Amino acid sequence: MAVPLVDLKAQYATIKDEVNKAIQDVLESQVFILGPKVKELEEKIANYCDVKYSIGVSSGSDALLLALMAIGIGRGDEVITTPFTFFATAGSVSLLGAKPVFADIDPGTYNISPYLIEEKITSKTKAIIPVHLYGQCADMDPILEIADKHGLYVIEDAAQAIGARYKDRKAGSMGHIGCLSFFPTKNLGGYGDGGMILTSDPELAEKVSVLRVHGSKPKYYHSVIGCNSRLDAIQASVLLAKLNYLDDWNEARRRNADKYNSLFKGLELVTPFAEPFNYHIYNQYVIKLKPGSSGASAPEKRDLVRESLKNAGIGTEIYYPVPLHLQKCYSGLGYKLGNLPASEEASANTLALPIYPELTNEQQEQVVRVISDSLIG
Ligand SMILES: *Cc1c(COP(=O)(O)O)cnc(C)c1O
Repeated sequence: MAVPLVDLKAQYATIKDEVNKAIQDVLESQVFILGPKVKELEEKIANYCDVKYSIGVSSGSDALLLALMAIGIGRGDEVITTPFTFFATAGSVSLLGAKPVFADIDPGTYNISPYLIEEKITSKTKAIIPVHLYGQCADMDPILEIADKHGLYVIEDAAQAIGARYKDRKAGSMGHIGCLSFFPTKNLGGYGDGGMILTSDPELAEKVSVLRVHGSKPKYYHSVIGCNSRLDAIQASVLLAKLNYLDDWNEARRRNADKYNSLFKGLELVTPFAEPFNYHIYNQYVIKLKPGSSGASAPEKRDLVRESLKNAGIGTEIYYPVPLHLQKCYSGLGYKLGNLPASEEASANTLALPIYPELTNEQQEQVVRVISDSLIG
């Protein structure tokens, strides 16, 4: 029985009629960019995420870029973030000529450690970007406190965390701006690229909505320089149809995570740690391997487990194999192996397993059996 890492076809099968009709409606309307469908989605997402404004953009990466543009990040500025994230979190900072400064993670949650941020603050620091990795919110209260104390902006990278909660606050609603991605494999995924900017600040909302249309307001009059970064109506209509199911899908992922947690009991590996005050939505379910009693290192174990799963037709992925401070493009920043040990260790020892909502009990049992055999064998 093959088990893919994600199975978008299984999900499409459950919502086919609705989604097909939603797309057909857009074709009949022949309104493809922004328009009423995007407006409706913006209102529903703002409501869902507990913010006043939400602005549809062309991807999660562009959401980050426009958010940073809106708060005025540019040459000479520094932005503190985690090195254990998707590249766009730091890439957006660099694209604006500013410098990403990496603070190490908490090895339990894999999110930026609030206790390692303050030592990175300089006179050039303008913002902090916590990432809610794998669907669990970063520890926001201490982060917001540090930001407040030093007059810094907080941009939440909530690309993997729509619907996640931190002490009853929604992911993306706690900082000055929150960024969502609708990449197809996110918990709310479109059928192409898409993203959303969340904020309750009317000035930032206005800035972002002008920036996404080349900085033009009114049309063809430009007082600032922006981008072409708009959400398509086809994506919005697919997302509107899917939004009705998001809470159920998040719950199904949580049930699958619970099931894995109990099936993995007694095995030599670390299951995901969720803070008791967090509502984790498991965009990814990531295990960490330990050194084996036979003398194999944790990275060797990880590669062995991954190979066994692959041979059994089970999909896995490493999120992320190289922490950003060690990426070739950032060699100029001067980091060395050993500088951010928790991130480096997570890159070497972790593995993401299938966790999508439609995953069956039998499939989960199969995944666990293969892992168990490869750890014991
Ligand atoms: C997916 C993702 C992004 C980028 O989103 P896109 O829509 O693919 O551009 C940014 N940050 C994180 C943490 C992500 O997982």
